[in-house]
Amino acid sequence: MTVAKKTLHLRLVENMQVDSETSCWNWTGYILPEGYAQFNLSVAEGWVRAHRKSYELFYGAIPAGGHVLHRCNNKRCVNPLHLYVGADKDNCADRIAAGTQRGKLSPAQRFDIAISTLTPVELATAYGISTEYVRVLKRKHRASV
Ligand SMILES: [Zn+2]
Repeated sequence: MTVAKKTLHLRLVENMQVDSETSCWNWTGYILPEGYAQFNLSVAEGWVRAHRKSYELFYGAIPAGGHVLHRCNNKRCVNPLHLYVGADKDNCADRIAAGTQRGKLSPAQRFDIAISTLTPVELATAYGISTEYVRVLKRKHRASV
């Protein structure tokens, strides 16, 4: 098992180039059309996402349903220090946070907040609004059902 792991580490390192400015480990192997690094692991496992493999190698198994995300926003990067595991909803919250301006929620967003299972604090952070406003939206929604 150790031998196989070592080989994998070696292959990972052989297929990347360190960017001295960003310290990203840029994958030099095959890149998917959508920009993710691909790694042909073995006949049994086939092609895997290189950044997921890197995460597993350095930190251990990825929790079920977890997504390995990039702090550096560089899909080609396989630097374990730039990777973290998030759930689907984190992905979603990141997207919302990036695309939402404070105080400008669409009706669909207000509905999402009202029915979300996230805590008011998480929602407030994700949408850039106050926790009090989150509670107001939830109260309004409950009253309307
Ligand atoms: Zn990076």
